Amino acid sequence: MTENYRHLYVVIEHIDGEFLHVSLEMIGEARRLLDNFNSKYSSNEKVVAVILGYDIKDMSKQLIEYGADVVIYSDHPELKDIRNTIYTKVISQISQDKKTLDDVEPLYAGEIKRPRYMFFAADSIGRHLSSTVLTELESGLASDINQLVIEDIEMSHQQKTGGSKEIYAKTLEMYRPDFSGFLWTTILCLDNRNPAFKRDYHPQACSIIPGVFEPLKQDPKREGKIIEFIPKIDDKDLRVKVLSRKVIQSEVDFETPRTIVSFGRGVKDEPEQNIKLLEQLAKELNAEIGITLPISKKPFLVSQALDSKYMIPDRVIGTSGHKTSAMLYIAAGVSGAMQHVWGMKDSGFVVAINPDENAPIKDECDIFIKGRMEDVIPMLIEEIKKQIHIIEA
Ligand SMILES: Cc1cc2nc3c(=O)[nH]c(=O)nc-3n(C[C@H](O)[C@H](O)[C@H](O)COP(=O)(O)OP(=O)(O)OC[C@H]3O[C@@H](n4cnc5c(N)ncnc54)[C@H](O)[C@@H]3O)c2cc1C
Repeated sequence: MTENYRHLYVVIEHIDGEFLHVSLEMIGEARRLLDNFNSKYSSNEKVVAVILGYDIKDMSKQLIEYGADVVIYSDHPELKDIRNTIYTKVISQISQDKKTLDDVEPLYAGEIKRPRYMFFAADSIGRHLSSTVLTELESGLASDINQLVIEDIEMSHQQKTGGSKEIYAKTLEMYRPDFSGFLWTTILCLDNRNPAFKRDYHPQACSIIPGVFEPLKQDPKREGKIIEFIPKIDDKDLRVKVLSRKVIQSEVDFETPRTIVSFGRGVKDEPEQNIKLLEQLAKELNAEIGITLPISKKPFLVSQALDSKYMIPDRVIGTSGHKTSAMLYIAAGVSGAMQHVWGMKDSGFVVAINPDENAPIKDECDIFIKGRMEDVIPMLIEEIKKQIHIIEA
């Protein structure tokens, strides 16, 4: 049967010759989805990795070893550093170029207009790029997804189907954690079949939260196809120039310290005093301070010294920040949303301080101290001081 959309394209990110781990995770998940897809629909659709850069041809083979069937690469000096305008343009060209689409799988040559599905990383680069590429391709985008299913779904909808019942075959169901991760939203990107507004929405695309999926084991024996795409670049695409590039090292160190003291919105009653208490606790334990994502948005007014030191994105623990495997992790005033838990679940020993014993963090900790941090932390500090005194004596 003729179909205008086929294959699953994965947009790869890399820095200095190394893949970002999330790129390999996406390839792994794409492989699992398409293996099921091909056996269910008796088809031969491909996992297509798309990689842009300069001097990157050798990286293509590795993407096949990690699970891609086909790699489309664009190697050009102007693609060395990521610039949104030019990357958007080239990825959009790759997604619509007839010859490249035909080369992916000659079985479907002549019929394909665009990819069926498209994955980007939900990091600062991928979130921006996915939105601009999908605008260019005039389709929809679901952001920050952590579960994917491909299903035939039946639905009737006033706007989409004009009220009649329709089967949407091979629909990508994109699941996203919302409301602090306590509710799932399913996002669908469906063609308008309503005769009054007929219009296609392909590719069905999403950005994927890093760390959610497992990459496949690299298999040097895997074989696939590598296609070069020569980009069409105009001078006007190059108005932003990269003159130099400097990687700014974070001053926050979550690797070395054996203990992390994290705080969340539970500081709300006395933010200034509570953060000072947490600072004191961290000092006694020689610990680094972590925070939940909402704290990085500066929801409370505190002195400039505390604000600029602690309420910053660099300290976020979770899917939008750091992952830690500290020996001791103390979570004060943290509810335990899944995005935060992802960042601390590999810790050795977890203590939570929270007055709400129904808070999900209770299921993630070794010791749950039911109480307000204002009351609990001074007692902890006093006890730690006593113990240190005993050890030193
Ligand atoms: C795409 C996406 C990515 C995200 N990424 C991250 C991420 O990387 N990291 C992250 O942390 N979040 C992330 N989030 C947000 C996450 O879903 C939660 O909203 C957030 O973790 C909740 O932060 P919290 O625990 O500080 O606040 P809340 O959920 O409001 O919890 C505050 C807790 O403090 C307790 N409390 C109240 N008073 C006190 C007191 N006096 N003493 C002690 N405890 C008290 C309350 O009982 C409550 O359990 C993300 C969300 C989305 C949608």
